[in-house]
Amino acid sequence: MVGFDEQLGRDLDEIRDAGLWRELREIESAQSARIKFGGREFINFSSNDYLGLAAHPALGRAVREAVEQFGVGSGASRLICGSLQSHHELESALAKWQGTEAALVFSTGFAAAQGVLTSLLGLDDVVILDKKAHASMIDAAKLSGATLRVFRHNDLENLEKLLQWAADRGGRVLVASESVFSMDGDHAPLAGIVELKERYGAWLMLDEAHAVGLYGPLGQGLAAADGLGERIEIRMGTLGKAVGAASGFICGSRQLVDLLVNKARSFIFSTAPSPAVSAAARAGVELIQSAEGEKLRQQLWQRVGKLRRGVGSLGWETPAEPSAILPLIVGGEAKAVATMERLSEAGFFIPAIRYPTVPRNEARLRVTLSASHSVEDIQQLVNALGQAVTR
Ligand SMILES: *Cc1c(COP(=O)(O)O)cnc(C)c1O
Repeated sequence: MVGFDEQLGRDLDEIRDAGLWRELREIESAQSARIKFGGREFINFSSNDYLGLAAHPALGRAVREAVEQFGVGSGASRLICGSLQSHHELESALAKWQGTEAALVFSTGFAAAQGVLTSLLGLDDVVILDKKAHASMIDAAKLSGATLRVFRHNDLENLEKLLQWAADRGGRVLVASESVFSMDGDHAPLAGIVELKERYGAWLMLDEAHAVGLYGPLGQGLAAADGLGERIEIRMGTLGKAVGAASGFICGSRQLVDLLVNKARSFIFSTAPSPAVSAAARAGVELIQSAEGEKLRQQLWQRVGKLRRGVGSLGWETPAEPSAILPLIVGGEAKAVATMERLSEAGFFIPAIRYPTVPRNEARLRVTLSASHSVEDIQQLVNALGQAVTR
């Protein structure tokens, strides 16, 4: 029999041999456009802190005030005695912002996806996912026990075929997609998806993780920007990206939230988020809706435009719609890592995203922008890409 250590050693060798080894970097600074690690400073093009709120003083103040009043730990799950005022205030703010009857906060977006799909679907039901849907939705779909079907990325014709098949089969049918895709920054054809799910009597869960804070007049997300919010049964987002804090949320009807409170195991059997984190998230949500939030969005979109023009002049293709995520497809896994290392020597931190996060031989540099980058940062990046990337 192979011992534990020996078995794990073999598993790890397999990962190394495939060129897929990953390890953690210890970041020695706050999250921002500049980060320090290994004793060096880098211009950071890798965070999801799209508006620069992660280290914003208003969120820090909210944390300090919440700690004064409520301490640090919530001490219990929400349904026992951990449902503190901060959580309720955050949920009211989320529902008001998104224009829904109710909202519910989970410890993470990952837990929110799990809670929704397992509460709404069972063995007799069908879940239809976009091919590029996030791991949280794939795992949640599997855990729900529903039959899982995948439609080609953003392909409405393929989605319609699956909806037809599912409607004939009977049972509940739920379509799940991201609004802005996490790896490529491209947008889902939301109007088409909404129309189809209505025609076939299916439900839609929309993951706005990379859209919340960035699109729409008050930064509500892409559904609101496209005027489709009210036709989507389940809107999901995270408070850990543009909002600058942590936790996941669901917005929808009062009945949806009541059902989740009663059935979602990732909500029920988990300690409530720290009240300080919920207070910070609420401050982030308020800031996003303020004049300052609007200014930060304008700054971000200006930086995005400059980078798109810059990489376009270097011969890269850019996605049709603007987003804070810009994928630069490099190809092989080893080549992507070598390019990342050259950029890192030049003082830029841009992660190489590889299999299994994206398909093999579609390894890429995933550049993410923030309102906290200066125009000069963008110019420097374009210059460095011109030198570091051989294609
Ligand atoms: C980050 C992310 C999540 C998970 O949210 P967390 O709050 O980080 O757990 C879900 N969906 C997508 C598309 C994401 O990018």
